Amino acid sequence: MLHSSFGKGSADFGCSKVVHRAHLHDGLVEVAKRNGADVIIDSKVTKIDYQNVGQVKVTTQRGKKHSFDLLIGSDGISSVVRRTILPEVQSKPPTGNCAYRAIVPYDQIRKDPVAKDLINKLTMEVWMSDKSYTISYPISAGEDFNMVLSHHRPNPVNSVEEVDMQELRDTYRDYDPRIKRVVDMIPEAQRWPLMVTGPLNTWSSPSRNIVLIGDATHTMVNHMAQGAATSMEVRLSEIVLPLPNHGNVI
Ligand SMILES: Cc1cc2nc3c(=O)[nH]c(=O)nc-3n(C[C@H](O)[C@H](O)[C@H](O)COP(=O)(O)OP(=O)(O)OC[C@H]3O[C@@H](n4cnc5c(N)ncnc54)[C@H](O)[C@@H]3O)c2cc1C
Repeated sequence: MLHSSFGKGSADFGCSKVVHRAHLHDGLVEVAKRNGADVIIDSKVTKIDYQNVGQVKVTTQRGKKHSFDLLIGSDGISSVVRRTILPEVQSKPPTGNCAYRAIVPYDQIRKDPVAKDLINKLTMEVWMSDKSYTISYPISAGEDFNMVLSHHRPNPVNSVEEVDMQELRDTYRDYDPRIKRVVDMIPEAQRWPLMVTGPLNTWSSPSRNIVLIGDATHTMVNHMAQGAATSMEVRLSEIVLPLPNHGNVI
């Protein structure tokens, strides 16, 4: 379905590539346009009519209306598409486990006499303690050190939160000195919830003019490291082929 070089955005691990989300989006847009798709951006969908009409009608926040034969809801964990066809489904954090997300430039780490040892190779690293862990890997073709710093809160976290940087640093103060040095370099971070959605009984509307893919239907915790891959690996042919008319697809 997709072939693109991803430009400067990929870090090569031999058998696989790690890309920054923004560069992946660039690649997807490039391929969509190459195949004749009309890409409409900055259009938050607020209303979907699908039950008593042949086509799915979508209204955006700005009041624009669009009609499609098939609506693919790939709108993430708070999916308006899922809320429309499966209003009873809720995404939930199963525990108080959540994660800081942060990026530090490799150049900055290379200049640090202690931390530079950590990045001799462009590899994925996991460091664990009993109540937290860090997962790090290169993105942007090895320009940036991407960190996911898991930890626990007394209560489940349901939305992205601003954080006190001192609290973040204190969480990892007993880690290896090289990790601590990198944590001290983090300029800013946010706390992210780690939610689970499903399993759902169905991923489509009864007349199959709407289907859900990605986090909208099977959000999973980050350390499974499969969310992004499974969002794209869904076999769209299985969804589209049974439809009588494969005209406009959003
Ligand atoms: C801390 C953390 C670390 C992770 N690490 C990994 C990892 O290492 N590997 C991995 O594979 N996965 C990882 N994941 C999971 C991965 O990020 C998700 O599974 C993946 O982004 C899901 O893609 P998606 O396209 O379904 O949803 P999203 O990436 O959430 O994209 C949804 C899109 O829909 C748009 N949208 C939402 N609502 C509307 C609306 N009403 N109208 C129009 N557009 C809308 C949003 O703006 C967004 O662009 C991680 C997740 C977290 C939280």
